[in-house]
Amino acid sequence: EDKYLEDDAHFLATLQQAFGERAGKFVAAGRRGAYPLTRVLADKQADGRCVIIGNAAHTLHPVAGQGFNLCMRDAHVLAQMMSAQVLKGADIGDPTLLKRYEKARLSDQKRVIRFCDAVVHGFTHPNPAVKLARNVALIAFDKLPNIKPLVANYAMGLKS
Ligand SMILES: Cc1cc2nc3c(=O)[nH]c(=O)nc-3n(C[C@H](O)[C@H](O)[C@H](O)COP(=O)(O)OP(=O)(O)OC[C@H]3O[C@@H](n4cnc5c(N)ncnc54)[C@H](O)[C@@H]3O)c2cc1C
Repeated sequence: EDKYLEDDAHFLATLQQAFGERAGKFVAAGRRGAYPLTRVLADKQADGRCVIIGNAAHTLHPVAGQGFNLCMRDAHVLAQMMSAQVLKGADIGDPTLLKRYEKARLSDQKRVIRFCDAVVHGFTHPNPAVKLARNVALIAFDKLPNIKPLVANYAMGLKS
């Protein structure tokens, strides 16, 4: 692993081989870091007058491109709750409000975590029956009319 971080030529050659020529030839690389892709859901997202949102509250496997969307929904809901407080002349750091925010967000966060986990397991499972089911599902996804907007809406949190 250290070789990928320290040796630019080795990193570029490996990247090129894995990525192919779709983006042309990779000629230079910046400083790299490595960290494990672990799933995290904070035990507590609101405490007293503090609240954590976005990746500070949850990190997902990046397999399904859902992390940023989820963070935006956290920010949107918190902003809506805080604006309502401002309109009422109430405290935006009220611990009860922040707890209410946490409660309001948990089900979406858990739903997306489950979805990403299912995708990771579906794509890494060694069982041939699971692989076959996954391939059939991918072909169906590609061929069936109207399924893509449904999945896209689900992924964007527009329908659950
Ligand atoms: C490889 C990869 C691919 C991804 N692909 C997608 C994708 O295709 N679609 C998608 O929706 N999401 C994707 N994500 C997830 C997405 O990038 C994150 O969910 C999103 O960036 C989180 O936003 P955030 O603002 O909560 O946190 P971050 O983007 O992590 O921002 C936190 C910021 O705080 C700074 N910071 C940290 N500690 C301190 C400190 N002590 N003091 C001051 N500043 C600090 C950091 O430097 C950083 O700039 C991907 C993630 C990874 C790792």
